[in-house]
Formats: sequence, C-alpha cells, structure tokens
Amino acid sequence: MIPGSFDYHRPRTLNEAVGLLADHAGDAFVLAGGHSLIPMMKLRMATPEHLIDIQDIGELTGIDVSNGTIEIGAAVTQAALIASDALADACPILRETSLQIADPQIRNVGTIGGNVANGDPGNDMPAVMQALDADYMLHGSGGQRSVKARDFYEAAYFTARDESEILTSIRIPVPAQGHGHSYQKQKRKIGDYATAAAAVILSVSDGKCTGASIALTNVADTPLWAEAAGNALIGTDLGPNAVSAAVDAARAITDPASDGRGPSEYRTHVAGIMVKRAIEAAHERAA
Ligand code: FAD
Repeated sequence: MIPGSFDYHRPRTLNEAVGLLADHAGDAFVLAGGHSLIPMMKLRMATPEHLIDIQDIGELTGIDVSNGTIEIGAAVTQAALIASDALADACPILRETSLQIADPQIRNVGTIGGNVANGDPGNDMPAVMQALDADYMLHGSGGQRSVKARDFYEAAYFTARDESEILTSIRIPVPAQGHGHSYQKQKRKIGDYATAAAAVILSVSDGKCTGASIALTNVADTPLWAEAAGNALIGTDLGPNAVSAAVDAARAITDPASDGRGPSEYRTHVAGIMVKRAIEAAHERAA
C-alpha cells in the first residue's frame, strides 16, 4: 500500500524540531529511521499530516561514556551502537541485543530512539533498557524531563511521551565492572521479532548473587520488568532452585497474545526458557 499524503520537514536543530512539533500538535510524527513508522503509514495505521525528520540534528547522534553514565543520542543507529567499542566495554548487552535486531540493512538506518519510542512490544531494546534501569530524556516546548524506561510503556504503542515531545537521549547507569549479562531471543527465523525474549543483568560476589534485573520482550502489551524474578535470585548461589523460582516469577507476569508466533501458553513457556538461558549465560560471564 501507499501512505497517505504528508508534508515533510527536515529541521537542523532540536529547537526547530520541537517548534515544528508544537506548531503541528496532534498531526505530526517524528521520523527517525522510518523502519517502523513507514510500514505503519503504508498500512494506514499511522496517518500523520506532517513528518519531522530528525536525521540532520547533530545533537541527537552522540555516544558518551563518562562519570558512571552512558548517554546515547536518540538518532544513533543500531549499526553505530554495534560499532562503538566504548559501549561494548561498558555495557556489552547493548551490542549483543543490537546484533539480534532485524538484519544489517535495517540496523544501518533504524535508530535506538525509534526502537524505544515506538512502543511496539516486539521491539528488543525496551526490555534491555528496563533491565539496565535506563532513563529516557524527553524535550518539548515546556522544557526537558526524564522518564524511567520501567515507567514509560503504558500499552501497545502508548507511552508516557507526550506527542509534542522528542526523545533526545537515553541515559544508563554503567553496570558494575564484571557484571554478567545476556539477551536471549527465540525467533522463527533470522530478522524476525521475538516469540519471547529475556534480558538479564546480574552481579556475583563470593559465589552469591548480589544484584539481578530481568526484563521480557513481546510477551505482553508492553515490555515487562520482572522485578520479582530478579529478586528471586538475589542472595542465592544461582543454583537450580533459585533459577526455577525466577523462571516461575517471570512466567507469572506474562500475558502474550496467541498469534503467528504460537499460542499464548507456548509463548509463556518459551519466555521461561529464555529467562533460564539468560540467567545461566549471565552467570557464566559474571566475574
Ligand atoms: P521510526 O520508524 O522512524 O519511528 C518509530 C516510532 O518512534 C514512530 O512513531 C516515531 O514517530 C517515533 N520516534 C522515532 N524517533 C523518535 C524520537 N527521537 N522522539 C520521539 N519519537 C520518536 N525491531 C526490533 O527491535 N527487533 C527486530 O527483530 C526487528 N525486526 C525488524 C524487521 C523488519 C523487516 C523491519 C522493517 C523492522 C524491524 N524492526 C525490529 C524495527 C526496527 O528496529 C526499527 O528501525 C525500529 O523499531 C524503529 O526505529 P526507526 O529509527 O526506524 O524509527
């Protein structure tokens, strides 16, 4: 199908983009890589009258790791994220997850900001951001504010972002040195969205788990931060009973649709397997 007609804007500064969004409130969409938005426009699931293309806004393209914080500009592509050795050193789950998104052509254009702002429960980065306790920086005509990734997602395609705000960057506390990490994704074929996926970040000291954060992709209307599942691991030696308790706690909060990826019960079952594999891989990697 062909999208409806729209006016195309290509601002060069953030202030210009925010002004355009305010001028066309309710009728404008931000355009980043377009790899989620354009397909939705073709299906007429999105019918914006104005597209505000942010690709020329240099302020949105930086990657910075300093003072215990990672800051990634919203317009950083998934390919740029994979290419950053500083990011891979500080927070390797970001490269590991990016490599599981779609294919190289899509990763060359798709952005981290579009992936997390989209609100599609099938996107991979939102759960990773919840596991990492990231903050999303939002800029609108009323100024700047931040929203935790764990509070951002309200329903499929509904988020805490006001339609007049642009996501400018993502801030992530640098995980502890030697932390364990894993993103495990079950998909039907290369380039597919997850049937179910799990992100795990954990810390281990003297054989005991001292911190654990788990989040799930595509097993509900929103990504899910599985707080109880993480808590089931803390203080344990990450043995089979603890892992099994975490898996049960994670499965208990899932509510996946039955669709082409399988019946709801199957996807809940797969979610538990992804959690188990991710805990085991993170445990092996933890120093
Ligand atoms: P766009 O499509 O431009 O925007 C997406 C939405 O976010 C729009 O509503 C837009 O208005 C909004 N938006 C974008 N940037 C901002 C911003 N800075 N501030 C406010 N709002 C903003 N994704 C996965 O996670 N995993 C996959 O396995 C996967 N497989 C794919 C397979 C195919 C064949 C395709 C076409 C896409 C796939 N994707 C997958 C989606 C892809 O990663 C997208 O690129 C990504 O979801 C959106 O990024 P984008 O930059 O293209 O955003």
